Amino acid sequence: MKRNFPLLFYIIYTAWMFGFSITPNSNSQVVDVWIRNGIVLDGLGKPSEQADIFILKDSISFVGTAPHNVIAKEIIDATDKVVTPGFIDPHAHGNPFKTPKFQNFTAMGVTTIALGQDGSSTNISELFKLTDSTKKLVLGPNIALFIGHGTIRRLSGIGYKKNPSKEKIQKMVDLLEDGMKSGAFGLTTGLEYTPGRYAGQYELDELAKTVGKYGGIIMSHMRTENDATMESDLAELFSQGNFANIHVSHMKVVYGKGSDRAEEILHLLNKKRNESSFKVSADIYPYLASHTTIGILFPEYALAPNHYETVRQRRRNDLLDYVKTKVNQRNGPTATLFGTQPYIGKTLKQVADEMGIPFEEVLVDHIGPTGASAAYFTMDNDLQNRFLADPYVMLSSDGSPTMHHPRGYGSFAKMIEKFVVHDSLLTLEEAVRKMTSLPAQMIGIKDRGILRKGYKADILIFDPKKVRAQATFESPHELATGFDYVLINGSQKTGNGKLLKRN
Ligand SMILES: [Zn+2]
Repeated sequence: MKRNFPLLFYIIYTAWMFGFSITPNSNSQVVDVWIRNGIVLDGLGKPSEQADIFILKDSISFVGTAPHNVIAKEIIDATDKVVTPGFIDPHAHGNPFKTPKFQNFTAMGVTTIALGQDGSSTNISELFKLTDSTKKLVLGPNIALFIGHGTIRRLSGIGYKKNPSKEKIQKMVDLLEDGMKSGAFGLTTGLEYTPGRYAGQYELDELAKTVGKYGGIIMSHMRTENDATMESDLAELFSQGNFANIHVSHMKVVYGKGSDRAEEILHLLNKKRNESSFKVSADIYPYLASHTTIGILFPEYALAPNHYETVRQRRRNDLLDYVKTKVNQRNGPTATLFGTQPYIGKTLKQVADEMGIPFEEVLVDHIGPTGASAAYFTMDNDLQNRFLADPYVMLSSDGSPTMHHPRGYGSFAKMIEKFVVHDSLLTLEEAVRKMTSLPAQMIGIKDRGILRKGYKADILIFDPKKVRAQATFESPHELATGFDYVLINGSQKTGNGKLLKRN
């Protein structure tokens, strides 16, 4: 008895030091959720392992074989199911003020989206105000924000001008710095759109220096995405890559063909990656049709700030020739599928036939560069598949809750359903890596994308064979199915998403 006294004292003292209270349950560990006996994929691409996961509050507190003394408030039996980190979509669209739940994304296992794409971003401080303190805006998934180059170009008063003054560029730099300090993860550019297309290398490099100063990344919708000009598109982005991490958004080669062409482009990315101290990566979405404004078919002289109706009256024949050639290069009028009224669901060929006029007249005389959005079936299967197999290429959706294209509702489910289960193009481990740790590392999210103690509990539980992308081009707004559990910040409740801050 006498000899036991110091030992007992020591135990109590140690327990006190570690903040435990001495109760009858002093040996048991209390957790919020116990995910039991799942096939765990860590997100890093390692072979799966049978394991248990504990969640405490919004974080993972344990991954491994569960000890005996655990009390869980909730147990999820994951036997025969895979358990993965929540998917991260590095290129998403949508208005968080209008559709904060983003159910199209969470239904396909996406727990974090990156918004502010293609040069166009939203008001960051307003969004932080509405989500942080007042909780007026309840988010479905987590959101990582980027600053849009086109947006700060407008805000700095440059608008559509080419060759802005150094003072004006400095104004953009200041706006970018403000955004980075507010928690943005980097800059996006949309160099195929207005006003992004009016920017030159000096302007973009100056902005890249600022992004680099904060350790951020530039995600670029490149200048053309066309087969003939891919090399110059990439050279422009690589120049920015001397100052910051760079990333090719929704990589594609419009009217390029074959896996050899993909190899050539991947070789250029690898070369830059090896030469540079900065990161070089890309994403693709798993569909062979793009989707964007019809303005993409028109020449620069028909776009803002020029007045289209005036241009049409003066140069109608030039316009007809230009759009005719452009559409034919892009697989012809059957490969353009309208996604906006009054032509929604019809191809350009169908509309032209119904009107009884050539398709180029439909575009020039009846629609104009701002009159519609469409899907364009311009991508090559072998080429895009080769891109997807590259270890530095990740998955994105480039979709939104409202866009008339299945990618916003199906991309991440299709990755599993088609590329893993049906085609065996990728192992499940590698596919999951491309949807979790790879985009997390690229964006700079340090505590998500991996199933590991201390990481945030964004977790999916599902049977890969049951995952279905339900959305089609005819019916693009069908939610994906097959994800049994989508936990965001430790909770299954919708509306548990956070606005993320770069740290
Ligand atoms: Zn884009």
